[in-house]
Amino acid sequence: MRTEAPLKKMSSERQPDGQVRYQLELGDQLLFLNELIGRDFELEFGGNIHCFCGETVQKVFRQHFCYDCFYSKPQAGDAIFRPELSTAHLGQEDRDLEWEKAYQLQPHIVYLANSGGGKVGVTRVAQMPTRWIDQGASSAIVLAEVPNRFLAGQIEVHLKEHFSDRTHVKKMLHSEDTAHDLKEERGRAMDLLTDEFRSYCAEEAEVVELRYPVKERFVHQKSLQLEKDPHLKGKLIGIRGQYWLLDQGRALNIRSHEGRLVRTSWK
Ligand SMILES: [Zn+2]
Repeated sequence: MRTEAPLKKMSSERQPDGQVRYQLELGDQLLFLNELIGRDFELEFGGNIHCFCGETVQKVFRQHFCYDCFYSKPQAGDAIFRPELSTAHLGQEDRDLEWEKAYQLQPHIVYLANSGGGKVGVTRVAQMPTRWIDQGASSAIVLAEVPNRFLAGQIEVHLKEHFSDRTHVKKMLHSEDTAHDLKEERGRAMDLLTDEFRSYCAEEAEVVELRYPVKERFVHQKSLQLEKDPHLKGKLIGIRGQYWLLDQGRALNIRSHEGRLVRTSWK
């Protein structure tokens, strides 16, 4: 086995035909994951977690922040998880105004996606289509493009009564893709917006299709947690969103284990 390295969220890219390719950086290794599908592996978690601040800890909050970072760093601030709570556009600091300005005062989009079900979401323009891939969406469409995170959050909140803002994880992992016509859904959403919000919607938008490398039918039985399953042995049968789909219906959310120091080996 290799030396320990911290897990990171998988990076991904969409090929012109819609196929998603995944890579995982693990220490000085770069794993081309699509090529490892069908292979057996072992993954060992020793209990230490690396926070992005450099500290090594045994307990983290909101998936990968050490105690101090969770309560002090802007990367763990409320506006990250609830865009409508953004205040940088008012010049108001939550934790670090300069960081919050750079993050919040950049173009954002509000989108609609099929991700096990129809949903509405918000992301930075620079995060397309990464955000959609991370959620395992089979298709997505831009509803509106706005100059900052606050406005995107406002539109999302406005639409939450009519559209879910959650990914239906189990359906998504089962590849039970609902066939909401996203152009139609976009029209429905636009009708629900105020004139001000609608002024941020382009007249036309394209549906982006995404296809994931899943080689066998997957029926979810168990979501793995490395804290409870520190010596993992399995076969990778597919990848969707930020999940590894393994044999015996087991799913491992790579992103939710960010920072865990692990060793891996592939057969
Ligand atoms: Zn930290």
